[in-house]
Amino acid sequence: MTAATDYLARVRAEIAHRDPNQTEFLEAIDNFFKTLTPVLEAHPEYIDANIVGRLTEPERVIQFRVPWVDDEGNVRVNRGFRVQFSAAIGPYKGGLRLHPSVNLSIIKFLGFEQTFKNSLTGLPIGGGKGGSDFDPKGKSDNEVMRFAQSFMTELQKYIGPDLDVPAGDIGVGGREIGYLFGQYRRLNGYQAGILTGKGLSYGGSLARTEATGFGLLYYTKALLEAQGSDLKGKTIKVSGAGNVAIYAIQKATALGAKVVTASDSNGYVYDPNGIDFKVVQQIKEVERGRIKEYAQRVETATYHEGSVWDFDVDYDIALPCATQNEIDGGRAARLAQNGAKVVACGANMPCTPEAVEVFKKQNVLLGPAKAANAGGVAVSALEMSQNSERLSWTFEEVDDRLKDIMKNIFDESAAAAKEYDLGTDYLAAANIAGFTKVADAMMAQGVI
Ligand code: GLU
Repeated sequence: MTAATDYLARVRAEIAHRDPNQTEFLEAIDNFFKTLTPVLEAHPEYIDANIVGRLTEPERVIQFRVPWVDDEGNVRVNRGFRVQFSAAIGPYKGGLRLHPSVNLSIIKFLGFEQTFKNSLTGLPIGGGKGGSDFDPKGKSDNEVMRFAQSFMTELQKYIGPDLDVPAGDIGVGGREIGYLFGQYRRLNGYQAGILTGKGLSYGGSLARTEATGFGLLYYTKALLEAQGSDLKGKTIKVSGAGNVAIYAIQKATALGAKVVTASDSNGYVYDPNGIDFKVVQQIKEVERGRIKEYAQRVETATYHEGSVWDFDVDYDIALPCATQNEIDGGRAARLAQNGAKVVACGANMPCTPEAVEVFKKQNVLLGPAKAANAGGVAVSALEMSQNSERLSWTFEEVDDRLKDIMKNIFDESAAAAKEYDLGTDYLAAANIAGFTKVADAMMAQGVI
């Protein structure tokens, strides 16, 4: 054991002792620690200052009751969270997730990842995450509004333009952000900078809606170019049909690739002619329907129950854009058998540690989530800049900056890969590049 591995084992034991049942959080920690040894060996001062021990404990965890009344007049209760993970390099920044699976472990894993993702963008934003186990599926607009108002009544005590700036994540889109913003304004007055992902009529940024999906493709393009390849003529499997997937499909198609699948939690559609993002957008964003309906509207498409990753078809690139752990070891092996050579993560932590091992053995290139899906939060930071200067930039201006940011994220990861002799392990490289900036900021600020 080196000093670095010994130190990481001690920190890991302390975390597991405190929170033995936080499975997703511990998994995120394990994935991260596997890649951290070289940077700790090169910087023993990080060990002396116990940077990792401090950084794995959130600065603040807020948990609260969210009571609301459903359309039948029943009083319902959900649990709300905001985990303020690290503000070492800027205000806490990260989305709110509304999904029945939400618990403290999931929000902590997401907040931890967010800290390094946000660092990678090169913009001054710290890491945070929040949400609730409220399930927006099947709820009326009025129920979602009453829930959002109750949620914000508590959350507003802890956020602010220079303190903590939430945004959307799974289950939180334009509608939810609108209701949350309205309630904040009613309680505190208009302040543009308290949330991002806002509507264009009240302080939102052009291209924020498209940003995560577009950014994913800009990153994938950079990754392919570094291998002397490109997107033209490539066949792509996308999972998901939400905000990330829709705009990933749009941009992939615009860049000359063909996306043949989209999915939701029940099943997937396969369209050998290429998925039409507008139809998915209409079904999911306008009608709030199920992906099944795509096959009823597009003749060449078929609908199948189950996971898109259990479906065999030849393809080149996988873009998991649904949720955590959707690709396990078995599915990773299948993906490689189907000929896929690149996986770029639109969702947060969509590949299990076993899947990551399979990719390494089979020479499948992995674009890790904290790099590949950073476009959303990057444009959120640009929304904050526009709010501060009380100006709005054109779509092209925001999109151009997003392109530069994604290219930069890839280049910085590639530089870290070179410095630490990591080959094409862009997961380790992104972890190290994201970590180093936060660690240096913490070193400069003393023991806090
Ligand atoms: N939920 C997105 C993410 O996982 C965006 C967060 C934000 O814009 O603050 O990065």
